[in-house]
Amino acid sequence: MSETIEKVKCLIIGSGPAGYTAAIYAARANMKPVLYQGSQPGGQLTTTNEVENFPGYPEGITGPEMMIELQKQAERFETDVRDGWITKVDFSGDIHKVWVNDTKEIHCNTVIISTGASAKYLGLDSEQKYLKLGGGVSACAVCDGFFYRNQEVVIVGAGDSACEEAHYLSKLCKKVTMLVRRDEFRASKIMAARVKNTENIEILYNTETEEVLGDGQVVTGVRVFNNQTNEKHDIPATGFFVAIGHKPNTDIFKDYLNLDETGYIINKPGTAKTNVEGVFVSGDAADHVYRQAVTAAGTGCMAALDAERYLAAKDATFEVSTSTYN
Ligand code: NDP
Repeated sequence: MSETIEKVKCLIIGSGPAGYTAAIYAARANMKPVLYQGSQPGGQLTTTNEVENFPGYPEGITGPEMMIELQKQAERFETDVRDGWITKVDFSGDIHKVWVNDTKEIHCNTVIISTGASAKYLGLDSEQKYLKLGGGVSACAVCDGFFYRNQEVVIVGAGDSACEEAHYLSKLCKKVTMLVRRDEFRASKIMAARVKNTENIEILYNTETEEVLGDGQVVTGVRVFNNQTNEKHDIPATGFFVAIGHKPNTDIFKDYLNLDETGYIINKPGTAKTNVEGVFVSGDAADHVYRQAVTAAGTGCMAALDAERYLAAKDATFEVSTSTYN
């Protein structure tokens, strides 16, 4: 029995603001988009509490609520939103092949990549152990801070994310110790000033993590060392938060697309085009500079418009349909 291969005019991978905005535009252009949500439906914004800088929400909106609204808007124009994880692609031909959960094969005229980025970890064995156990290691204060109310926590990082998360935690926790590996912050002055001026945040400069301590089930503290003096000490803590940046989710594309040294997809300047015709990119998968919901949405719009123009130019040569065949 031969396997059924689905044919799709416009496949969108990812369900953050970039993916849903691409879907809204593609659906309204009658491209019958199919959107795969990936492992974190709604993307990184679902881990954010209040979004106050997305135009059109004068009172702010929570990240999860905003993503539900975006999904509804995409579905209103008949975007086919599906659960599933794209595990493999083959962009070597005119028709782009993708595999869902390693099994289902789809042939696409256009693909819009909106796979976003994922949080980085230090990579220490002890960190990974308690992360996997769900025992007190987290890369998202907004998601997990609630569990550490009135407790003492440690956060690593000195960028804007770390400052934002440390400040968020300071409102819930008894004490937040912030580990900064240099003698200064990377964060903007205003964000750094906010943490410096928060009473229950203690900042330890030139300080790195040696080990996340625990009782085998949950975190009980963090062993740190001063990288100037090599002095070590233990900080009691029930939560260990890591806020040291993100990695773009682009590994499955690396054999076909041009990526920069950190893995961000390189788009043609001023467009959402990649080096492969018919494959477009939007959102944080290609953006290491702005990384905002509104810029992701903007590039989602660009990707759909670029895809539409590409299809219009190619229409004569493509057998465009959303039917299936054996
Ligand atoms: P950044 O790359 O800006 O900062 C990462 C931080 O983590 C740096 O301070 C870095 O230290 C530290 N770090 C990296 N690896 C390690 C390690 N192994 N051990 C200890 N510390 C480490 O990432 P962010 O996620 O903070 O920000 C990304 C972008 O998003 C930035 O452009 C930022 O401005 C933006 N942003 C804006 C916000 C806002 O305006 N509201 C909120 C959040 C992010 P070092 O400095 O020594 O390299």
